[in-house]
Amino acid sequence: MIVTLKPEVNSNQAHELGKELEAFVISENGNFILITPNKTKKLDEKYASFVLSAVPFDDDIQLASRKYKSETRTVQLSDQITIGGNSGNTVVIAGPCSVESEEQIEQAAQLCVKLGIGILRAGAYKPRTSPYTFQGMGLDGLKLLDKMRSKYGLKIITEIRDSTHVNEVIEYADILQIGAKAMYDHGILKSCGKSNKPVLLKRGFGTTLQEFVQSAEFILSGGNMNVMLCERGIRTFETKTRFTLDLCGVAYLKQYTNLPVILDPSHAIGYAYGVPDLARACVAMGIDGLLVETHPNPAVAKSDASQQLNFDEFTVLYKSLGAVATSVSRKIV
Ligand code: PEP
Ligand code: MN
Repeated sequence: MIVTLKPEVNSNQAHELGKELEAFVISENGNFILITPNKTKKLDEKYASFVLSAVPFDDDIQLASRKYKSETRTVQLSDQITIGGNSGNTVVIAGPCSVESEEQIEQAAQLCVKLGIGILRAGAYKPRTSPYTFQGMGLDGLKLLDKMRSKYGLKIITEIRDSTHVNEVIEYADILQIGAKAMYDHGILKSCGKSNKPVLLKRGFGTTLQEFVQSAEFILSGGNMNVMLCERGIRTFETKTRFTLDLCGVAYLKQYTNLPVILDPSHAIGYAYGVPDLARACVAMGIDGLLVETHPNPAVAKSDASQQLNFDEFTVLYKSLGAVATSVSRKIV
């Protein structure tokens, strides 16, 4: 249950009540709110003088639920870039899978600038399926991303792979990406909950929508409301494509959750040939953001080589998105 306390309730009182009710205590829009483990039981009358409203839930999708907050939450990345809320924006995030060298990431940064894209993506700590493949440049990669931010004024999204570098990534990134394989890592989720930086949480490829949104609740209940959900494909019986992009799931997330929804067609299909069509289908869903991998020379990419678009392919795709966005009353940013 989400209990919103009256504005006159101070921090000490809120925390005392929180202890009594075994609740999370966070503050939102100037009011303290308690998220109690008992979902539907009526609150005891003795709390009435402190309580403004109490919203019961029949599952643990609470802070992310439209039942609690009906409008989509806003992630204000900069004066120019608003994600979610009533912005009507579909914000494009582009860049290679991994930072591989200064030259490679600088070429990607220059492509973003040329097209007017404000957010550059690239992993420095890569969650690879095999220990024998490229694991990312680590801190050196983060420093290169930092350099691109200063030189080109881009916002940077990069992922936290595991607990060894959570604080490092929190320090360097503008958006913290939690990858599909890390979606269940409660250490990472809780650390991101304590940060105030925007978080892009990817759906684990073997998880239900309920489990996905509950992972987001770990971040939200820590006090960080800047959470975005990213559908990036789930595992099905199909093997011709890498994963299956769950657009039904996207419809669910849009209908029932108040978190901005970002789609990642690149990791879903896993093959560059299908990314442009799929990306347009994503934008047609009326989403808050789109993430696409692009590399100056995909054939030699050190990770996810088969799915990255080259810059010409990406440019053609990017230029086709505006009309699709307009058809669903959105604009590409
Ligand atoms: C990535 O974004 O490069 C990545 C590894 O994504 P995912 O966690 O969705 O596999
Ligand atoms: Mn990748």
